[in-house]
Amino acid sequence: MDVQELEDVSLEDFSVQIGTLISHDGFRISELCDRILKKGVLCRASDIHIEPNREGVRIRYRIDGVFHDAAYLPAELHDQLVSRIKVLGDLLSHRREIVQEGRVRVKIGDSESDLRISVVPTVAGEKVVARVYSVHNATQDISQIGYTGPMLRRVRSILFDLEGLFLLCGPSGSGKTTTLYALLNEIQRELDAYASIITIEDPVEYEFGKWSQMQVNRQVGLDFAAGLRASLRQDPEVIMVGEIRDRETAEVALHAGLTGHLVLSTLHAGSAPETVTRLVNMDLEPFVVASALTGIIAQRLLRRVCMNCREEAEVDPAKITLIRRLMRRDDTPLTFYTGKGCEACQFSGYLDRLPVAEFLDIDEEVRAMILNKARTSEILQMLLKRGWKTLLDDGLEKAAAGLTTFEEVLRSISLREVL
Ligand SMILES: [Zn+2]
Repeated sequence: MDVQELEDVSLEDFSVQIGTLISHDGFRISELCDRILKKGVLCRASDIHIEPNREGVRIRYRIDGVFHDAAYLPAELHDQLVSRIKVLGDLLSHRREIVQEGRVRVKIGDSESDLRISVVPTVAGEKVVARVYSVHNATQDISQIGYTGPMLRRVRSILFDLEGLFLLCGPSGSGKTTTLYALLNEIQRELDAYASIITIEDPVEYEFGKWSQMQVNRQVGLDFAAGLRASLRQDPEVIMVGEIRDRETAEVALHAGLTGHLVLSTLHAGSAPETVTRLVNMDLEPFVVASALTGIIAQRLLRRVCMNCREEAEVDPAKITLIRRLMRRDDTPLTFYTGKGCEACQFSGYLDRLPVAEFLDIDEEVRAMILNKARTSEILQMLLKRGWKTLLDDGLEKAAAGLTTFEEVLRSISLREVL
């Protein structure tokens, strides 16, 4: 089966074709495995799941954050399929009771994707999840990701100062790493002669070859904090730490930011104001946080409406009232859009994703609030008073522009703080 055919086939037909393939006597398990992995990559899946249950094996792809069924296999094929993947990933195929991790490289035409394989024993057998890392995601510019306007200019100017701590926050799967990589790409391109860049990652998702990347290895004591400390002895200007999870890492990152380094990292928090209080609540000196922190981006990835089948949608009046209230504009004429569903979007109405974001510039007023140990809600109230644009505002604006849907905004962004 050639690549074009595999790319064009809908998931429904793919499932039928897999059924036909395995109905032939003497079919090769390598062919089955190859098709499952390649089709996943071709459909832009971020994850390929191979889930055994009592009835059989369910193969599904996560595309733009949502699962799509790809095929069902009879239970007797499960062990062979998993063994094949283990062989490709250099794992121990005879060990079925342990957790294993590996990598598989999938080559389609000229492009290559890295699949990070995780195998976990479940009561129904081994479950395999392959996370797909595409070169395209890792090498985009910040403007290509969807950041534009005054916010982008301000973020650039903060970063190009090459000092302080700059944070990205959001839940997992919100595209933080892609944005971090894009920021690093930009710094490297603009300031190569002035900046030595080093990163500490877990895992190294993509090897750039343009700067030094360290892989966290806890077995030898190389965690984020240790890696960060060691990298400070390497004469760097820019350090990227995959994640700040504990007080120790936060402390080293803040001090590095205060001593003439630019530190980029991520923190698990819902919003930019919450990130500020999260840091202070890690039992860190408010004065140090206030002095080192320069900016915070909170980000979510929303599904983009498929432009191929987009049309105006009818919406019930109650929802319109809610959205008007959220947009704080009673008189806004609103047009609602929806993707009707077509081949291009696997009949989901959505194709690809776009980031929505809020950006908190740590200026004098915010600094004063950090020093006073202000609560998240107090910081948010102050910001709202001066017309600060929240994650929700950005999402609603993008929905009003027909790029995503209001449903998608309301599904992805918490309304807790604004209602
Ligand atoms: Zn479509």
